[in-house]
Amino acid sequence: MIERTEVLVIGGGPAGITFCRLLKKLRPEVAITMLRPEANSMVYCAIPYALQGLFDPEAVYKKDALVTDVGVRLVRQRVARVNLADREAVTEDGTVLGFETLFIATGAVPVQPRLDNADADNVFTVKTQDDMLGILGKLQAGARRAVVVGAGAIGIEQAQAYRERSLDVVLVDMADRVLPTMLDADMAAPVHDVLRDQGIDLRLGGTVSRLDGSGGRVHRVALSDGTAVDLDPGTDFVCFAVGMRPDIDLFQDQGLAVEKDGIVVDDRMRTNLPGVLAAGDCCRFVSAIDGKVLGGKLATNAVPMAKVAARTVAGIRDRYSGFVNGAATCAFHLRVASTGFTEALARERGFTPVVGTGHTRSRFPMMPGSSDVRFKLVADADSRRVLGGQVVAEVAATDKIDVVSLALQQRLTLDDLARFSYSAQPWQSFFPAKHALVEACESALDRLDNADREPPAGIAS
Ligand SMILES: Cc1cc2nc3c(=O)[nH]c(=O)nc-3n(C[C@H](O)[C@H](O)[C@H](O)COP(=O)(O)OP(=O)(O)OC[C@H]3O[C@@H](n4cnc5c(N)ncnc54)[C@H](O)[C@@H]3O)c2cc1C
Repeated sequence: MIERTEVLVIGGGPAGITFCRLLKKLRPEVAITMLRPEANSMVYCAIPYALQGLFDPEAVYKKDALVTDVGVRLVRQRVARVNLADREAVTEDGTVLGFETLFIATGAVPVQPRLDNADADNVFTVKTQDDMLGILGKLQAGARRAVVVGAGAIGIEQAQAYRERSLDVVLVDMADRVLPTMLDADMAAPVHDVLRDQGIDLRLGGTVSRLDGSGGRVHRVALSDGTAVDLDPGTDFVCFAVGMRPDIDLFQDQGLAVEKDGIVVDDRMRTNLPGVLAAGDCCRFVSAIDGKVLGGKLATNAVPMAKVAARTVAGIRDRYSGFVNGAATCAFHLRVASTGFTEALARERGFTPVVGTGHTRSRFPMMPGSSDVRFKLVADADSRRVLGGQVVAEVAATDKIDVVSLALQQRLTLDDLARFSYSAQPWQSFFPAKHALVEACESALDRLDNADREPPAGIAS
């Protein structure tokens, strides 16, 4: 027997939830069924802090009422296969669901290492409830050492969590710096210092070459520089945080346009098939800056994409202008945020970047608790358009970088941003004459203008 629904949503993460809630608000009469396999949707961003022991791990579970209270039918089942031509999905228990409109929000899964013993009991990736509970089990069993592979935001947050629990932590990345997609080398340097000062053994420019183990447990991690880290196979563990790939296996050979980095959607979240939309980590999408394909597996991309999808289904015109990629993380007391292109990425994508830096204090310098704030701004030397920013501070960096994200979205130039009007107060802000973002703009403008400035009248020799 076939059950029918008007709108079928596959996936119960931020994209699925946001889509359901907004569509129900706009069109309460639409019947929506959401399929998701896990017992609880989760606040993934908070998993590192649950592992650190800051709160009861159950606090990361989202309530089903987020969707059931607005009238969505939630079915806890994994979709085993779809037939998009017949507009049907079949769940693992054999239920067939027919739909008029399909919203795909299957997200992304961690990239698994292609190494022998990668499936051992003490080798993890971080995404699911099982991952979180498995790592917690090792920590509670008395783990003393962890090897974290991948020094992106998820890897850094794992490394910090385990170090805060007094483990010996080795953090490995093939890049020459941590957070390589967020920070250029100059901005990553203070993060390296903090990680090392806190006792993390940072191994950059290398990879894991072998996981030695037996009986389903790894006891040694061999690195490409010829060194090795020994583990107690009973309690110590390895955690890979080496990227995410879109969870799209279900949709191969269905006539759906799919690339390696995700389902292809337009700016209204429509796929190439009528009545089939997608949003979030399962999608391939483009940069808001240059319109070319760009990775962006972030909740802050998934949510606005899902809102556009809900409006499209509700018949409201809206468009998503692309990934800006405002992102943030913490390395102990350092707060790190970035948006748009780094200097390195701007160059890779064909721009001639000019950069400016601002280095100031979070509060008026005489105020207790005032601390360092470093700002880096990246712009295109030809058009003077702002392309990206990076902040490393000891206070929240997200509010500071969000101003740059807005500048990117509004396609502002350095000249526009240098005139940005701000507020100041001794406890709460930079000194009025030392706003870090304005200072970074002015330093970039100085570089540009000094390149082609004529000597001032009267002092020409
Ligand atoms: C540890 C960690 C920390 C993070 N920190 C941040 C952060 O600080 N800031 C930020 O912006 N982003 C962060 N992210 C990324 C963010 O969580 C994702 O970008 C976001 O969850 C994507 O939402 P989504 O709804 O597209 O996909 P997902 O959240 O991945 O949800 C996908 C859903 O689809 C379901 N699904 C998959 N296949 C099937 C199937 N066959 N049948 C039925 N259901 C299926 C899944 O079970 C899940 O419910 C973090 C991610 C992790 C793992």
